[in-house]
Amino acid sequence: KLVSREFHPEDTIIRVGDVTIGNGNLTIIAGPCAIESEVQALTIAEKVKKAGAHLFRGGAFKPRTSPYSFQGLGKAGLEILAKVRAETGLGVITEVMDEETFDLVEEYADIIQIGTRNMQNFSLLRRAGKARKPVCLKRGMAATIQEWLMAAEYILEGGNTDLILCERGVRTFVNHSRNTLDVSAVPVVRQESHLPIITDPSHAAGRRNQVIPLSRASVAVGAHGLMVEVHHEPEKAKSDGAQSLYPEQFESLCEQAKAIYAVS
Ligand code: PEP
Ligand code: MN
Repeated sequence: KLVSREFHPEDTIIRVGDVTIGNGNLTIIAGPCAIESEVQALTIAEKVKKAGAHLFRGGAFKPRTSPYSFQGLGKAGLEILAKVRAETGLGVITEVMDEETFDLVEEYADIIQIGTRNMQNFSLLRRAGKARKPVCLKRGMAATIQEWLMAAEYILEGGNTDLILCERGVRTFVNHSRNTLDVSAVPVVRQESHLPIITDPSHAAGRRNQVIPLSRASVAVGAHGLMVEVHHEPEKAKSDGAQSLYPEQFESLCEQAKAIYAVS
């Protein structure tokens, strides 16, 4: 299998501008759940950049559980992401939800994200295999590691080898968090695959007080990076405010994560 270490013994390194993922450094991706306005995105981007983020995240097309919830700004959101990149120099990662909007997202994104709900959308995976940009494939919230790696295989098989895996929590019986971050997935994936693996403690936790501890744990078990939601006014966020860190908390997270990375 193309995804396996037997096929490709060395770690795969992804390059986005001068940022590398999977190469002896910890890559931190941060930003709001959704792009809400130009002011919101630029305000958060400046703050996370100052704190040490390497890349900016933000959804323009949002996969919401309810059709009545904020669905994202669409193309206008992508244009704001382009503005963030121009003003801050940060590369941007944003989710693609379907094949119809793939060309558009591909044009604006530096990394194309495939969300947990689309992990086994095989036609979308095949399209991502033809993309000219790196892809970040999140683990399905009820997927085994083998199913996740097979989903990755679709993208690699299509010819796109710039692929990052993201553990974002799986469904369990607990009610103290939204999902359960499967930290054990990190060493397993690192053993089985050459692809870089990051974690998203924000969507796993669903509440901000668990995000820093889960970030520390992720780095300690060998994650190549973290993707974290940050908002300057989480109370006013249009989505996922409860799990979004305040910028000061994100600064602290960066310090702690880098310290743990240095000794692990
Ligand atoms: C996201 O990162 O914006 C997101 C929707 O995450 P997930 O697909 O993991 O729920
Ligand atoms: Mn979110």
